[in-house]
Formats: sequence, C-alpha cells, structure tokens
Amino acid sequence: MSARVIDGKAVASGVRERVTAEVSELRSPPGLATVLVGDDPASAVYVRMKRADCAEVGIESFHHEPGGDVSGEALAQLLASLNADARVNGILLQLPLPGHLDSEAMTALIDPVKDVDGLTPFSAGLLAHGRPGLVPCTPAGVMELLAHAGTELEGAEAVVVGRSQLVGKPLAAMLLAANATVTHCHSRTRDLGAICRRASVLVAATGSPGLITADMVREGAIVIDVGINRTDAGLTGDVDFEAVREVAGAITPVPGGVGPMTRAMLLVNTVAAARAQLEARR
Ligand code: NAP
Repeated sequence: MSARVIDGKAVASGVRERVTAEVSELRSPPGLATVLVGDDPASAVYVRMKRADCAEVGIESFHHEPGGDVSGEALAQLLASLNADARVNGILLQLPLPGHLDSEAMTALIDPVKDVDGLTPFSAGLLAHGRPGLVPCTPAGVMELLAHAGTELEGAEAVVVGRSQLVGKPLAAMLLAANATVTHCHSRTRDLGAICRRASVLVAATGSPGLITADMVREGAIVIDVGINRTDAGLTGDVDFEAVREVAGAITPVPGGVGPMTRAMLLVNTVAAARAQLEARR
C-alpha cells in the first residue's frame, strides 16, 4: 500500500493562520529585520519570500542590504543597532555570507532574545540543555509535521541522517526531548541501511539526492525528507520518493514538504520573540 503523503503546504498554511490570529491579539505588530549581504540570487529569493510571508500575517519587516563588500565591523554595527531597536523583535541574518565575513561570529552577535533563526551558540546551548528558547526553523518544522501526522514519539526509534548545526543536531535534540530513542548518523556512519531500517521515524537531512532507498526503510515508517537538491531531473530530496512511498507509512514530498514549514516556523518564532520581549518589559 502506498504511503500517506504529508502535505507541508497545507500544514504551513494552518500555521500561518494561527500566527495571523496571534498577531492580531498583540497591541502592536511584531517586527522582523532581514539582513541580506551580497548578491547570492537564491538568498535574495529566500529573503523576498520571508518578507512576503511576514506581510501576509501582519508582521512588519525592516530590510537591510549593506552591500557585498561590507566590513565585519560595519555589519557588527548594523546588528548592534537592530539589537537595540525596540521595533525589531527578530533578526534574520541570511546565510551564507560572502567569504570575507565569518558567518558564525556574525550570527553570534545577534541578541539571543531576537535570534529567530535559533542559530546563535546561546540558543543552541539552551536546546542542548533541554531548556529550548528560540529553536532553528527547519527542525521545528519537522517536529510540527510529525505532530500533524500523529506520530507517537515517546519511546519511538528515531534515526536522523545528517548532523549540521542548522538541521541535524537541533532536530536530534528535539526528538530526544520528545523522549524518542535517537540514533544520529552522518557520512562516516557504517552500515547506514541497517540503522535506518530500525527507524519508525526516519529523517534525512544530507543534501545527497536519493540517498535513502526503499530497502533502507522499515515498513510503515514515517519518512521526513529535508533535502533540497537541484539535479538534472529538477528539485529532489534525499529520499527515493517513488520507491520509498511503497514501503513507508507516511512520507513528505520535495518540494512541498519541509520547505514551506521552515518559512512558517520563522513567523512562529518572530511572534514568540515579540511576546517574550513584551513580557520582559512588564
Ligand atoms: P550540511 O551542512 O551539508 O550537512 C549535511 C550532513 O549530511 C552532514 O552531517 C553530512 O555528514 C551528512 N551527509 C552527507 N552525505 C551523507 C551520506 N552520503 N551519508 C550519510 N550522511 C551524509 O547540510 P544541511 O544544511 O544540514 O542541509 C541538508 C539538506 O537539507 C540540504 O539538501 C539542504 O539544502 C536541505 N535543507 C532544506 C531546508 C528546508 O527548508 N527544506 C532547510 C535547510 C536545509 P558529515 O557531518 O559527516 O559531513
């Protein structure tokens, strides 16, 4: 029997509706600052889409494009001014930065209370300590999709393939916090297939197209494909979708699975940041 396909667009649309309602309850609209450095076309598209999402739900956005040759000092000054600006509740520094800038050092300058991408060492530390503050949007979106699919995580055997700061590591921490038994795999893992086959929840976040084949999937497993790969055949994930859907119980497509959730969770984080800042001022 073919797996249920989890419609990320529909789930994201529900999340946006929830955010719109929450925004309307706030005294003033939350504000998101977007900072785009350099001329990476994909980054420009992502930022444009994120700003359009903000407009749709009533979040104000403040856009900054300091120029591709901006110095580290000048970018640090811009981030400091956004940290100090009361209209700005969240700061999104679009990555990657041009090569002369240190992405990690620049990201670390964002005030953790405004860290709506959840990528500062402070936010990562809180998550690792089991006291999450603002968490990265893609793994948060995966957790939302799993909840939507009615996945029982308590005691479940979850396998995460990929260990980036952006996706794999925070996701493993979130699954662990949800009391799943988590196995974390990467490019040096031996016998990846045998480990994946144990999983009732299998998440692939590698950037390796078609890595997860049907023989690596346990019958009835929930398979979440985070990968976005531009191939000659078009946009594909890390999972061999057509073959795996014949074995899995539920599966996310690419595109239309995790991608829309990443964008939606940025809105959730921005409202959460605005609320926390309002509380702190009381
Ligand atoms: P990344 O920083 O390149 O990390 C990739 C991870 O996958 C690494 O931990 C790597 O292992 C592991 N890996 C690579 N090839 C592997 C293989 N053959 N077997 C096992 N593990 C392998 O990538 P990322 O930022 O996490 O992104 C992963 C994918 O998700 C990309 O396709 C990216 O475009 C996509 N993505 C999608 C969204 C979305 O919204 N849908 C958001 C972010 C990223 P090592 O650590 O050993 O090198």
